[in-house]
Amino acid sequence: MRFLVDEMLFDVAKYLRFMGYGVEVMRSGTPDKEILARTEEDGLVLITADKELYKIAKKNGDGTIFLDIRKSLEEKLAIVIKKANLYLDFERSRCPKCGGELHYIDSKDVNVPEFIKKTHKKVQECLSCKHVYWKGSHWEAMVKRVERAFKLASKI
Ligand SMILES: [Zn+2]
Repeated sequence: MRFLVDEMLFDVAKYLRFMGYGVEVMRSGTPDKEILARTEEDGLVLITADKELYKIAKKNGDGTIFLDIRKSLEEKLAIVIKKANLYLDFERSRCPKCGGELHYIDSKDVNVPEFIKKTHKKVQECLSCKHVYWKGSHWEAMVKRVERAFKLASKI
């Protein structure tokens, strides 16, 4: 399952990538017509904060999810988890920044701080944008947030 996400909901897009889902982000100002054509052609599930656009997509019978921008990130994720029936598998994680595939690489071969090289033999590198990730406190915090969202989703 792949998603097309409103730029206003970039935080949601980032987390869906982290959870291993393919996500494209649409620039704000993209005409509705273009968005609807994309979702239809490529079978993307539209996630939008634009109620009018959501209504049109729904009428067309396209897979679409409306998210209220005022809800917390956990609440927004929980709605997507519930509606799209997502499951948890961090082994499939993609680059939160660009959605590229991640692969494991020796930390000594990449430009990361010395203390990371000491504590992490392997890190993950994005094949597209070359951003490097390691399972440190930031990663842990993202995992916890996703876990909270799944818990929340089970109560919806
Ligand atoms: Zn990337």
